[in-house]
Amino acid sequence: MSPEVNPFESLQEQIDDASDYLEYSTDVLERLKHPERVLEANLSVEMDDGSVEVFRAYRSQFNGDRGPYKGGIRYHPQVTRDEVKALSGWMVYKCAAVNIPYGGGKGGIEIDPRQYSASEIERITRSFAKELRPIIGEDQDIPAPDVNTGQREMNWIKDTYETLENTTEPGVITGKAPESGGSAGRVEATGRSVMLTAREAFDYLGKDMADATVAVQGYGNAGSVAAKLIEDLGANIVAVSDSSGAVYNPDGLDARDAKAFKSETGSLTGYEGATEELTNEELLTMDVDLLVPAALENAIDGDLAQDVQADIVVEAANGPLTPNADDVLSDRDVAVFPDILANAGGVTVSYFEWVQNRQRFYWSEERVNSELETIITNAFDDLVETYEETGAPNFRTAMYVVAIQRVVAAAEEGGIWP
Ligand code: NAD
Repeated sequence: MSPEVNPFESLQEQIDDASDYLEYSTDVLERLKHPERVLEANLSVEMDDGSVEVFRAYRSQFNGDRGPYKGGIRYHPQVTRDEVKALSGWMVYKCAAVNIPYGGGKGGIEIDPRQYSASEIERITRSFAKELRPIIGEDQDIPAPDVNTGQREMNWIKDTYETLENTTEPGVITGKAPESGGSAGRVEATGRSVMLTAREAFDYLGKDMADATVAVQGYGNAGSVAAKLIEDLGANIVAVSDSSGAVYNPDGLDARDAKAFKSETGSLTGYEGATEELTNEELLTMDVDLLVPAALENAIDGDLAQDVQADIVVEAANGPLTPNADDVLSDRDVAVFPDILANAGGVTVSYFEWVQNRQRFYWSEERVNSELETIITNAFDDLVETYEETGAPNFRTAMYVVAIQRVVAAAEEGGIWP
């Protein structure tokens, strides 16, 4: 991981790269590179022992031209204002890439949640929800889970918002538990879109998924679900990792069993289905057909990219390649399928959840999965059409071209006011 690479600058570079294939003036492009507004809050929260701690929190609303701001909330010690701004921008282009009617937002609290009790996390979450209340709402800004947040935190935010507003408005937040208005299929949605992108990519490149070798970096929600669904297509998951390191078996690991082991013990270290333990760097540079980075941003920098041996990379994490790594892999003809398509399943099923909440009419898991498949495969088709038509140097740039065109078209319809 390269913490020195600022993800906000990475986002701006990605927009610049795409702008070579678009004919927009610099003032139009400048508007696409900065958030409309960022809330910075300092949450004073009482701890279990009666002391008070202050937590820095952010919500960035990047662009609302195509619909309400939409994006997750992350709890992590390395959350910064610029990271949140970058993640909110990626949400804009992700929602546009898969053509769902949202702008982009993102939030985060600078915290290591493992250091706090459940009741402390609840008070911290409710305190953040109180700060967010004036700027969120089902037609304004709709948060969702991200790293280290899940149904529990979403339910607390919904309850705080509804209590303060004296209303019922389940569509104010997505990623809720089914009992609180969550959608079937939401938990697995991100991993599912990673699998669908990998399947379409193999097909487009004329490669066979059956018996393909796969390495997955990061074995949380996105990575472990992607691994099991890719395994179901007949591929061999040969290595997976978490922050404690990687486990490897050249004959293939059992993706579900490895996840069960991690859930039970807290890490993959010591997993008996593996023949070897490796470092994360070794996993990222293994000779495999498919590499799925599914941990955090900047996992692969320019130096490491020189050693990547995978033929295809499908990004489950947001921003796992630094811009240098992107250039190196593009020059080396490694086919990289970008985060704004591959992990868009999460926000797409969040969109389905919001539609169901507003209609108070709930879908079956089969319907959710089938509608998701349509959205991701249509977006993949839009990507390859633009890739072939524009001669863009790689799939990321082509996907940004598709997405930016959609955002600019909506902005032009709205005009500049006042
Ligand atoms: P998670 O917390 O469930 O899992 C993260 C995993 O990464 C954990 O297994 C952790 O141990 C591992 N990890 C952390 N640092 C690592 C390192 N240096 N090397 C190897 N592994 C490491 O989080 P998640 O929800 O799966 O999110 C992962 C990525 O996917 C993030 O970039 C997130 O923004 C992105 N994403 C998630 C969703 C979603 O719906 N969950 C949607 C879109 C994008």
